[in-house]
Amino acid sequence: MLPDAVMQKAQQEMLDWNGTGMSVMEMSHRGPEYTKIAEKAEADLRELMGISDDYAVLFLQGGASLQFPMIPMNLLRGKKTADYLNTGAWSTKAIAEAKQFCQVNIVTDSTANHFTTIADPEQWSLSNDAAYVHYTPNETIHGLEFADIPDVGDIPLVADLSSTILSRPIDVSKFGMIYAGAQKNIGPAGLCIVIIRKDLLGDVLPGTPTMLNYKTHADNGSMFNTPATYSWYLAGLVFDWLKQQGGLEAMAELNQRKAAKLYAAIDGSDFYSNPVDIRYRSWMNVPFTLADDKLDKQFLQQAAEQNLLTLKGHRDLGGMRASIYNAMPEDGVDALINFMNEFERKNG
Ligand SMILES: *Cc1c(COP(=O)(O)O)cnc(C)c1O
Repeated sequence: MLPDAVMQKAQQEMLDWNGTGMSVMEMSHRGPEYTKIAEKAEADLRELMGISDDYAVLFLQGGASLQFPMIPMNLLRGKKTADYLNTGAWSTKAIAEAKQFCQVNIVTDSTANHFTTIADPEQWSLSNDAAYVHYTPNETIHGLEFADIPDVGDIPLVADLSSTILSRPIDVSKFGMIYAGAQKNIGPAGLCIVIIRKDLLGDVLPGTPTMLNYKTHADNGSMFNTPATYSWYLAGLVFDWLKQQGGLEAMAELNQRKAAKLYAAIDGSDFYSNPVDIRYRSWMNVPFTLADDKLDKQFLQQAAEQNLLTLKGHRDLGGMRASIYNAMPEDGVDALINFMNEFERKNG
């Protein structure tokens, strides 16, 4: 979901941004109007997340998936090994891509428990010569989320924050790099945000294309080529909206309450279930199954009749998944829980 207030503002400004007579889509990305929009979005994101000047903030294209190869290309810096934690479908994809560039040491692997829990750090095997450690704080498909930031000492920590960025405050200084596709918890597709420590820039694998070098984008304010201007603008409206909601502390309180309610409803019934270890349940993506999967279709159909949409689980997992990102109001979660109770009463 996107906040209604954001879409209304975009609608108001669609044909004429701030009396310029131009739509944002019609502006030159290097013109004074668009420069203002771009700079404000970056400043607001820095304020929301507390990002210091030690970090570059980039607005890129190619999604989170393009970062999978760009990370080893940019961050190996002469080393041969990278450490990866495997906690779900997205970390598995990142690992497959990294293997084309380096030795991948798997620190911990949740494959055998079907990505329902994460081993304790005492059982992890971090290597001592890794160029970086990569992990996925929230696995969007399996609904498995780290409760804490892993402690990896001085080795740069890289996080795919695609589905949990801005859901709560996070200490950016603990990371070498954070990246996130915008389409989950920020707004429109077509944009990927990269937050990278400046001292990590520039030492790329030989043969790295100019466009795949983070330094290219850092040196050019993400305008080495034409950025995804409209997505960047809409992301900026969302940042502004988040500030008005009280920032990330306020979002954390709301998001935690939303998730707790939904898990309580699932755990309180024999009809619905969620297999994820309670310590590592996602605040953002709540997968659940019905006791009888023959009822799945009926569940989705009747939910849609009440405007409860896109609840179908990922094709790898089946069942249902409620993605309750920042813009999903608490009322929306209440409506889902009421529907689930009613459906259980009729079919349980
Ligand atoms: C959706 C998602 C991706 C892929 O994002 P794209 O922008 O489509 O490439 C990667 N990682 C995580 C955690 C995701 O949720």
